[in-house]
Amino acid sequence: MALISIPTIFICAFISMVTASVAMGVVALNDRRESAAGYWFLCFLLGAIAPLVVSVRSIFPEHIVLLAATHSVISFSAYMLFWAGFRAFSNQAVPKWPIWLTPTVWLAIYLLWPQLRHDTYLQIALHGGITGAITLLSAYTLYGNPLNRRLPMAFPLLVFLVAHVVVIFAQVVFALTNPSPSVVTHINNALWKLFMLESFIHTVFVAISCVILIKDRSEEQHRIASETDALTGISNRRAFVKDTERLLEDANDSAALAIIDVDHFKLINDQYGHQAGDHALIKFAHLVSEKLPPSALFGRLGGEEFGIYLPQSADQAEQTLELLRQHVAARSIQFHNVEIKLTVSIGMATVEKAGNGFDLLVAAADCALYIAKESGRDKLVVFSPAQRLHKIVEKDGEKRIGLADDRVSRKISRGTPLSAAD
Ligand code: GH3
Ligand code: MG
Ligand code: MG
Repeated sequence: MALISIPTIFICAFISMVTASVAMGVVALNDRRESAAGYWFLCFLLGAIAPLVVSVRSIFPEHIVLLAATHSVISFSAYMLFWAGFRAFSNQAVPKWPIWLTPTVWLAIYLLWPQLRHDTYLQIALHGGITGAITLLSAYTLYGNPLNRRLPMAFPLLVFLVAHVVVIFAQVVFALTNPSPSVVTHINNALWKLFMLESFIHTVFVAISCVILIKDRSEEQHRIASETDALTGISNRRAFVKDTERLLEDANDSAALAIIDVDHFKLINDQYGHQAGDHALIKFAHLVSEKLPPSALFGRLGGEEFGIYLPQSADQAEQTLELLRQHVAARSIQFHNVEIKLTVSIGMATVEKAGNGFDLLVAAADCALYIAKESGRDKLVVFSPAQRLHKIVEKDGEKRIGLADDRVSRKISRGTPLSAAD
C-alpha cells in the first residue's frame, strides 16, 4: 500500500479532471445544442478543484473547518451538475434550484450543527449518503430513458455508477466502524487509500464514458437522419429499400409490396401552392401510418410516391390496402382555410406472383400502378403477369401514335398534304 501515496492520487485525480473538463468544454463549444456537455464541463472543473482543497487540509490544519465546508460545497455542486448533465442529455428540463440548494442546505447544517463540524465520521457518513443518492439518481436519469438505453456506452456507465455507489456506502460503513484520532491519520489508512484510488479510477472512467456517450448519440442521430425523410418523418427511399430487402430474404409467399401514388398532386400544388402540397404530404403520411399494421414498412420513395411492405397473405394485403385507399379518400386535409381532398392509386404485387426480389416486386407493383392510373385513378390494382403484356401493348400503341403524330406534324411543317395513310 506504500506504493499508493495520497499526494500522487490527488495529483492524478486533478489532472484527469482537468483533462475531462477540457474535453467537455471543447464538445460544448463545438455544439451549443449539447447542453449536457456544458453541465459536465462545470462538473469536472469543480471535480478538479475538490482534491486541491482536500490536499491543503494537512497544510492548514487550523482552517480545517473552513476547508472541509468548502470541499463539501464544491463536491455537492459537482455531483448535482453531473445529475443535471444526465437530465439535459435525456432532453428533460433541468431545474436549477436543486443544483444550488443542495450545497447551500449542507453548508447551513454544517455551520449550525457543531457536532457535524467536529465529527469527521459524521461528515463522511452524511457526505457519502448524499453523494451516493445523487449518483443513483444520475444512473436512473441515464438508464430510465429508453432512448439512452440504446446507446452502447449506457450500460457500462450504469455499471460504473452503481459500483461507485456500492464503494461510497462501504466507505460510510468503514468510516463509522473505524474511528481514527485525526483526519491526517484517517486519510493515511490503507483502506482509505484504496477508496481514494477507486474514486480516481471512477472519475476517469466516468469522464471518458460521458464523452463516448455524447459521441454515441451523435452517431445515432446521424444514422436516423440519413434514413428519415425530412418532410414527412417516415423512412426515406434508402431505408425503405434496405429494410424491405432484409425482410424479403426470409419472406415466404405471404408478403406484398405496394406503390402508392397521390392522384393529380400537381394540381394541388398549382391550386393551393407548394406549401399546401407539403402539408398535404405530411398529413397523408400520418393518415397512412395510423392505418397500417405494426408489422408493415412504410417509406417515401420520392415526390408523391410511397412504398408499403406488408408481411401478409395476398388477400389480407389487398384488404389492408383497399381500406387504406378508402380511408384517404374519405378524409380531407385542412390547410389554413382550405380543405384538401386526396385520392390515391395503388399498385400491389405479391411475392407469390412476382418473386421475392425487391426489383421484381417494384417493377410488378409499378405495372399495376400504371393500370390503376390508366383506368381512372383512386383505385387499387393487384399485379398479375398478364398485365405486363397489357402495359407493353399500351406503351407500344402510344409509341405508334406518337410516331404517327410526329409524321403528321413534320408533314404539316413541310406543307405536305395529309393522306389517309397518315
Ligand atoms: P398522377 O395522378 O398521374 O400521379 O398526377 P400527378 O400530378 O400526381 O403526377 P405528376 O408526376 O405529374 O406530378 C407530381 C407532382 O408532385 C409534381 C411535383 O411538383 C409534386 N411534388 C413532388 N414532390 C413534392 C414535394 O415534396 N412537395 C410538393 N409540394 N410537391 C411535390
Ligand atoms: Mg401522382
Ligand atoms: Mg408520381
